[in-house]
Amino acid sequence: MIYILGLDGLDINLVNIFNLTNLKQNEYGGIKVPINPKKREPHSVQVWESFLTGKIAKPREFNPSLKFKIFHPLLVKLKKILPYKFGISQYLKDTNFPKIKEKTFIDNKNNISINAPFYNFNNEDFKITQQFASNLIDRKTTLNLLTNTLDEQINYINIENKNVKNNYDVIFSYLHYPDNIQHIFFKDINIIKNIYSKLSELSHNISKYVRPDLFLIISDHGFNFKTLKHSKKGFYSSNRKLNPKPNNIIDFYQLIYSYK
Ligand SMILES: [Zn+2]
Repeated sequence: MIYILGLDGLDINLVNIFNLTNLKQNEYGGIKVPINPKKREPHSVQVWESFLTGKIAKPREFNPSLKFKIFHPLLVKLKKILPYKFGISQYLKDTNFPKIKEKTFIDNKNNISINAPFYNFNNEDFKITQQFASNLIDRKTTLNLLTNTLDEQINYINIENKNVKNNYDVIFSYLHYPDNIQHIFFKDINIIKNIYSKLSELSHNISKYVRPDLFLIISDHGFNFKTLKHSKKGFYSSNRKLNPKPNNIIDFYQLIYSYK
């Protein structure tokens, strides 16, 4: 069995600074990820799609489209004052991963996803960050809501892990933290450290549960605290030495299929 935990935006420098051995495991390092040509930074949709398909995916946006993203704060306000029959709600779909057309390793019947992008991802944290971006909630409320939903999602993953164990060859679970926390709370390293500690504890639990099988932790990019953009390297760690060592996010696809 292979267990993969995807942690969006997990930054290799912070893992080192906080010295989180559960996240580093036996072997860890940076990995090459596709860079979005317009934004000049890795973009989660493209990187995770590339990871899941084993091919560099085309750059794509989150749903809803950019147009609705721009109007989103206005639509939120309109919805409050206009009756439902105006149909504002249909334009107010919360941000989520788009549909994926390519076949991914999750589509194999012996593999399963828990809260995975493009599949069954719970986008509660997007709803919260959108409310923050629309000035509907303050920073403190945003932090409380994000921390609570992270705790809930960690709980959910721990419960699901017990339910699915031994029945699958590959389990892929995912959390869209710490990316969201870094984007909003980049000035407060203690807030970020607290979130990393929660993820480290989750990794410790999963590691105990997966042993002696393979446990991989994967991230699509880090965070650059100077430019406030995504940093250009992904991250991986493994509880076993990998041979050959992965160098690019798309290398894991082969590794997953050839692992015995
Ligand atoms: Zn990301």
